[in-house]
Amino acid sequence: MSATDSVLLIVHVYPHLLGTYGDAGNALVLHRRALARGIPAQIVPVHPGERLPRTGDVYLLGGGEDAKQTAAAQELREDGGLVVAARRGSAIFGICAGYQLLGETFLGVGGAEAPGLGLLDVRTDRLERRAVGNVLADADAALGLPQLIGFENHGGATHLGPSASPLGRIRIGIGNGDGEEGTEGAVQGSVYGTYLHGPALALNPELADRVLGHAAGTLPPVEDRLVDDLRRHRLGHVLPATARAGRRRSLMGALRRRPAASGATASLSGTSSH
Ligand code: GLN
Repeated sequence: MSATDSVLLIVHVYPHLLGTYGDAGNALVLHRRALARGIPAQIVPVHPGERLPRTGDVYLLGGGEDAKQTAAAQELREDGGLVVAARRGSAIFGICAGYQLLGETFLGVGGAEAPGLGLLDVRTDRLERRAVGNVLADADAALGLPQLIGFENHGGATHLGPSASPLGRIRIGIGNGDGEEGTEGAVQGSVYGTYLHGPALALNPELADRVLGHAAGTLPPVEDRLVDDLRRHRLGHVLPATARAGRRRSLMGALRRRPAASGATASLSGTSSH
């Protein structure tokens, strides 16, 4: 927010193209957390064909199907406003389809490679199997955030180049797609990308404050018992159950892949030790 601005402008980019997964909630979260600090804020939805404001403080892009994602990327490239805003240091937060199109390239309709906006040094191709499920990631140490939680649903695998840093390291789930050692999301200056729905900023309020902080500076803490309870519940119950189910699935998969001759022994030793 510049010294002359009185209202923090949250630009919700193409909610009808990039809004399949309830990511609109992120705009509400930022709005509410700004107001809680006495910062006047306004959410401005922008639709395809409308000029993107150049002076927004935060730009939000949600998830969407391949065709809508390709259309959104083309509109945004033609508009040019997001690149201008990024140069001004505005915060840009993209989720899933919105994340992929902030990168250099992604796969659009029919698997054809499509150009992104080049605001994140990432490239997206395809996972072997679509990633659907809960996610838990340790936030990158440089961010100083608690664990990141959310829900993913994507076919894209995202590879980070040297200018982008991961948002976190996956504990449960797939994230960027490099398996158990893999990373989740990317950050480059004030541009963020993540696979976390949920909505991400509702489940990860410290991340919301970090995004807001690009415009509003260091923010005093706010109490939100509901969010604290929600996080406690997911961290204590939902995610451990997901991890147990994941371990069961990979054990069964490993047993099924064993050659028939050694299968009986493997399954006995496998079950007895767990
Ligand atoms: N279409 C993209 C993919 O499947 C993004 C999906 C999403 O936004 N949830 O990877």
